[in-house]
Amino acid sequence: MPIEPRTIVETSGPPAAEAGGVLTIDLAAIAANWRALSERAAPAECGAVVKADGYGLGLEPVARTLRAAGCRTFFVAQLAEGRRLRMHDRESAIYVLNGLLPGTAAAYAAHDLRPVLGSVAEVNEWIAFRASADWRGGAAMHVDTGMNRLGLTFREAAALAERDVAVRAGVDLLMSHFAVSEDAAHPLNARQMGLFRDLRALYPGLRASLANSSGIFLGPDAHHDLVRPGVALYGANPTPGHANPMRACVRLEARVVQVRAVTEGDTVGYGAAWTARRPSRIAVVAAGYADGFLRSAGATDRRREGADATVAGRRCLVAGRISMDLLAIDVTDCDEGVPRRGDLVTLIDDDIGIDQVADRAGTIAYEILTSLGRRYARVYRK
Ligand SMILES: *Cc1c(COP(=O)(O)O)cnc(C)c1O
Repeated sequence: MPIEPRTIVETSGPPAAEAGGVLTIDLAAIAANWRALSERAAPAECGAVVKADGYGLGLEPVARTLRAAGCRTFFVAQLAEGRRLRMHDRESAIYVLNGLLPGTAAAYAAHDLRPVLGSVAEVNEWIAFRASADWRGGAAMHVDTGMNRLGLTFREAAALAERDVAVRAGVDLLMSHFAVSEDAAHPLNARQMGLFRDLRALYPGLRASLANSSGIFLGPDAHHDLVRPGVALYGANPTPGHANPMRACVRLEARVVQVRAVTEGDTVGYGAAWTARRPSRIAVVAAGYADGFLRSAGATDRRREGADATVAGRRCLVAGRISMDLLAIDVTDCDEGVPRRGDLVTLIDDDIGIDQVADRAGTIAYEILTSLGRRYARVYRK
């Protein structure tokens, strides 16, 4: 369906007619997803995780949209991302999840960013900086409850609680992170929630945040004061195995460079890995793994079901390996003369969702989103 020009708010990248593909990002859907998560989490506050360039969809347009929807607390992974976000948003609270790298405390203060302190060493460095620079800005303290990635151990957090360290470090948020919240029945969820409750008791009065996207769907016991959704904002299903409650936000179309005929027994693409089982028509389109269309979504004789594409309303399959800049689609079942050189075929939309693309590529929607290429014509619509 063509996009009404009045709904386009921003474009970037090459002109659509010259680009190998057109990536359309539906900002209204991102806002609607935030509002839906916000309602589900209420009375807890709903923040937003916009790390990795807003999960690949563009930090500035995504954050601007979320701010307009009512979001006031943002999480990024790295200091540079926080600095970039701060240039466009002078008011929101911005937490940096990867924490404090040695010697960077002054940069946090300069941009009014809040480190998520993930070890005793980071807590001590932040306290020393705050004292020497007379900085009053806040920070989060991340305590591990079972992920074993970042965070103080429970014992360390308990020991610091006795020394009133949270006040000296300006900690305004107690945080932990689920390891397996997308699997609601996994026993680790209950264990993490129990540990986090105990942890809160050691820090009475401190705001607390535990839930990512899927964690929000574990129910009110997971919500605490602030939830931190990322991937669900961008349309991925936070409840695998159940209907996706989120709206799709991404549409990817790629340009047909040429259509060629192959005879039965011919192979298509690198590795000669896919053999035509009948006289076939193959559409070669200008998107490849360098555009984030992962090579693992290709098809071979052993595994015929690679990624799907929609060509003039008909579902087709990728044929053969995905190249760096191109991929091939078996369009034999399309009407005669369809598609034509220059047409767009659809690789991701409401029907071919990011979770399905991920599944065919043997990965997760997070990786599909954050891999979306930089060579597409990008169209932001409201
Ligand atoms: C990335 C991240 C999130 C967001 O997770 P989603 O599963 O994308 O909702 C929340 N908290 C932390 C600590 C993270 O690293």
